[in-house]
Amino acid sequence: MRFSDQRKLLISELASYGIKDSEVIEAFSAVPRENFVPPEYRDFAYRNQPLPIGLNQTISQPLMIAIMLEHLQLNNNDKVLEIGTGSGYQTALIATIVSEVCTIERLEPLSLKARATLKQLGFNNIYYRIGDGSQGWQNAFPPYMEFSKIIVSAAADKVPEKLVAQLSDPGILVIPVGGHFMQNLVKVEKRDGQTVSTTHGGCTFVPLVTTGQ
Ligand code: SAH
Repeated sequence: MRFSDQRKLLISELASYGIKDSEVIEAFSAVPRENFVPPEYRDFAYRNQPLPIGLNQTISQPLMIAIMLEHLQLNNNDKVLEIGTGSGYQTALIATIVSEVCTIERLEPLSLKARATLKQLGFNNIYYRIGDGSQGWQNAFPPYMEFSKIIVSAAADKVPEKLVAQLSDPGILVIPVGGHFMQNLVKVEKRDGQTVSTTHGGCTFVPLVTTGQ
């Protein structure tokens, strides 16, 4: 089956799990996931599962990405910070919806590969940094201090304070929080000077590797 037909099937699968946000569904229709997986996994690109991308990391499960993006309530005016660029697939989905994405990856080879893929697909609203994303967007271009939406694609033992500090008011942060094998999806919302956290079901991500500062 052609990739474009497989993509349509994946989108119906996401809809069957309750994904409704039309911006999110359009982004999944626009971004070719097969470009973000290693050649040996291309035939599996539209299975609703994570796949290896090298260096013990994975491209996230499409449904999990869709759930997180729905929680972010993305719109065209958002400036998004993403921690864990990985393959760049989720970066592409976000960059399809919003005006700018700043993305941080700690493993240089993955960041460089993602950049090449995203450039080849014509994205020009993404900024990249290599380093520990739990420290936030620091010493990076553009010199943004705040983001309206923040998404972390790796599992943390707690919500990094520096990320909450870089969330604008109003703003939404989503992050998997918990132990090594199982986490809960946590949503942190800032509004009218208040910060409120809520928990939204189980998930499994590779660990967020921090420098412990
Ligand atoms: N959304 C990505 C997910 C990649 S897996 C995709 O679908 O391809 C999570 C990524 O987070 C890995 O590439 C891992 O190297 C990266 N990562 C782990 N800890 C990090 C940290 N502290 N800062 C930045 N990236 C980190």
